[in-house]
Amino acid sequence: MKLSRRIGRFRLDLAIFWLLVTFALFVAARSWLAEHPEHNPWAPLNLADPPGWATHHKLAALRKDPAECRAVLERSNVAFEALPATGEDPCRREDRLVLPHAPLAPAAPQTTCALAAGFDLWMRQGVQPAAEALFGKRVTRIKHLGAYNCRRTYGRETGQWSEHSTGNALDVAAFVLADGKRISVGADWRGEGREAAFLHKVRDAACQVFGTVLSPDYNAAHADHLHLDQAARGFGGFCRQRETCVRLVCRECRRLSLVNEEDDVSRQRFCCAEVAYLVNEAAAFDIRL
Ligand SMILES: [Zn+2]
Repeated sequence: MKLSRRIGRFRLDLAIFWLLVTFALFVAARSWLAEHPEHNPWAPLNLADPPGWATHHKLAALRKDPAECRAVLERSNVAFEALPATGEDPCRREDRLVLPHAPLAPAAPQTTCALAAGFDLWMRQGVQPAAEALFGKRVTRIKHLGAYNCRRTYGRETGQWSEHSTGNALDVAAFVLADGKRISVGADWRGEGREAAFLHKVRDAACQVFGTVLSPDYNAAHADHLHLDQAARGFGGFCRQRETCVRLVCRECRRLSLVNEEDDVSRQRFCCAEVAYLVNEAAAFDIRL
């Protein structure tokens, strides 16, 4: 009897102990998240915060929520000029604004809010850090080929309407650094130099921010520019690249421990192709190695 009572008390003590440990962990996690809103999926997004685990998920959610998107720009102190709705279906644009201080040339184009928020975050977290790391200079101007264009994809007569038809896409052709140096997608994409490294770096950074990213790796139609759009794809997006494998499939490769980042590129590509085939996604992801 005595022994069983002691065991019972021991079990109760143990349960209380674990309850206290859990509570202490919960309190610690809450206060840590309060100090690091960039990692907190419930904290409002601020584009000026450092990049965190929750940043890109929250940004993706803005693709379907223009009102919250404008609130994010205000909260982040990003100046914008809201414009009234215009156009007829299928090129009706309810969600239309410009970023007057964005370093875009020619003058800042009219885009959706999600595109503008993505552009701002891409500049902060992708473009400027890459320019400073590789050239020790900041980017002062980005040459673009336009955002809004009421047309179908590839300018065809039939088929689906382009994201450009609602100003939800931007084509970027070149970057100009503070010392006047120009790095262009058309001239500098290939090769081993710093210019090519920079362009690939900013393309990869764009993949974290935009719904779709197409580069010269994708097809000849994008040989001289990066197409960035905010198609509402949820978190993840399509970063269509022929040279490097599709990000989503690669992630699956790593999740299955079939490949890791240290493996050489040909091994990674092979794995990606294999997994893409296995999950029958090759066509959907347009993988052509
Ligand atoms: Zn485009």
